[in-house]
Amino acid sequence: MSLRPAIFFDRDGVLNDVVWRDGKPASPRSPDELLLADDCREVVSRLKSAGFLTFVVTNQPDVRRGLMTATDLEAIHRRLAEHITFEEIACCPHDDRDCCGCRKPRPGMLLDLARRWSVDLAASWMIGDQDRDTACGQAAGCHTALLSRSYNSGAGADINAAELTLICDQILESLPLRQTA
Ligand SMILES: [Mg+2]
Ligand SMILES: [Zn+2]
Repeated sequence: MSLRPAIFFDRDGVLNDVVWRDGKPASPRSPDELLLADDCREVVSRLKSAGFLTFVVTNQPDVRRGLMTATDLEAIHRRLAEHITFEEIACCPHDDRDCCGCRKPRPGMLLDLARRWSVDLAASWMIGDQDRDTACGQAAGCHTALLSRSYNSGAGADINAAELTLICDQILESLPLRQTA
């Protein structure tokens, strides 16, 4: 089976708006708090048409921290999947003290998905809004794109842009021209 390129989307701040809590960008804790970004459906669709597998890779430590229930987290992911179809929504439910291999910036979720879905990591992209997303993508051997936000440094990513649509444009422009048979 030949390897396929993929797009790994961070969830909060990329596919849906962050929820501000105590001045920090945070996660929705119920389906009602899930507000999808205006351009995310179209972007996922354009990238799929270009041949990319699409995945969500999200850190969700709030269950572990006792701030939300696992049932609500599952409900949020069902709601997301009603709007956009991804190959898979991968979630790290751990906190730092768990020392897992999947909490970004560690690359465990990407490596696991790549193995199970035959993903060509070197031809794939991690799109995020936090520096840990860039570090995670780089650790997995992917290209990286970072949304320009007040709460990230913007350092190190291959693409920086203010909107998801602009990141999508640049990824598609970077592809080698396909041979048409
Ligand atoms: Mg995020
Ligand atoms: Zn984890």
